[in-house]
Amino acid sequence: MKVLVIGGAGYIGSHVSRTLLDRGCKVAVFDNLSSGCKENLFSEAEFIHGDILDTSALSNTMNSGFDALIHLAAFKAAGESMTHPEKYSVNNITGTLNILNCAASAKIGAVVFSSSAAVYGEPRYLPMDEEHPVNPENYYGFTKLEMERFLDWYDKLKGIRYAALRYFNAAGYDSAGRVTGLERNPNNLLPVIMETAARVREKLEIFGDDWDTPDGTCIRDYVHVSDLAEAHALALEHLVSQSKSFIVNLGSENGISVKSMLETAREVTGRPVPAVVVDRRPGDPARVVASSTKAKEILGWKARSSDVRTLIASTWNIYQKQFSS
Ligand code: UDP
Repeated sequence: MKVLVIGGAGYIGSHVSRTLLDRGCKVAVFDNLSSGCKENLFSEAEFIHGDILDTSALSNTMNSGFDALIHLAAFKAAGESMTHPEKYSVNNITGTLNILNCAASAKIGAVVFSSSAAVYGEPRYLPMDEEHPVNPENYYGFTKLEMERFLDWYDKLKGIRYAALRYFNAAGYDSAGRVTGLERNPNNLLPVIMETAARVREKLEIFGDDWDTPDGTCIRDYVHVSDLAEAHALALEHLVSQSKSFIVNLGSENGISVKSMLETAREVTGRPVPAVVVDRRPGDPARVVASSTKAKEILGWKARSSDVRTLIASTWNIYQKQFSS
């Protein structure tokens, strides 16, 4: 199978490309390297340095012939999306429409889309399944939901079959250390803990310890990026063999608190990892945990490498090589 991975130089896209190559696919990566990086490219994959706002670059690339594409090229900072929504409108919405229009004219009939649990907004019940009402609390989540809706219309009108994969909290690195690019100025919990352990950052700020949870800190569902990558490969195979669109959650079904992530990181890294408790971050729900039953039923997928120690050890493996003295 020949697959175009748009956004394939990013954190998740590089793991997806690696998994597809391991499974014998031909891979081409299309990326503008705005947040992705060259270290995340693999010599076996073709690389096209292009932007999803450049429709001629997109259509030239797609016209070279692909069986399917994976779309991971989107801005993803929820906080920034509330202060700079226009960036998200242009890149996430217009960019996705460009991709769909070019895919339709190039007759690419299968699209795997990286969606997000952010489409659900504040949880009304746990664990959250795909029937949970969608009500995004930030503009980023809104763009992801709209992108899913465009996909649904292009399925009806243009026959493009899609898989929308709603990720919960992606974390971890390839266990064999083959993906080495680090995110610049990360905001997510595990990279912040890793930078603190590596002494690049002075301390972790814990956003509130007075939540209604057993240790007072927020609970999230962290899923290993290699588990996510495997789900993309399975979703592609399913789309091509069944020709039927679907939406699935991808989570570990396991809730981990901020304190428990921090304590395990101290153990795994052997570093003190200083931390202070600060005010709650606006918009944070106390608990988010996925039900991934549907992914199991449809794809036979289950998170296999998403235990906390594996998440931390595989990430520390990369951070300590790059930062530690
Ligand atoms: N968090 C924290 N300090 C940080 C970053 C995150 O306490 O510097 C907490 C955050 O409040 C949330 C959890 O860690 O409860 C995961 O946050 P992240 O931004 O990684 O993902 P989100 O759940 O917001 O998508």
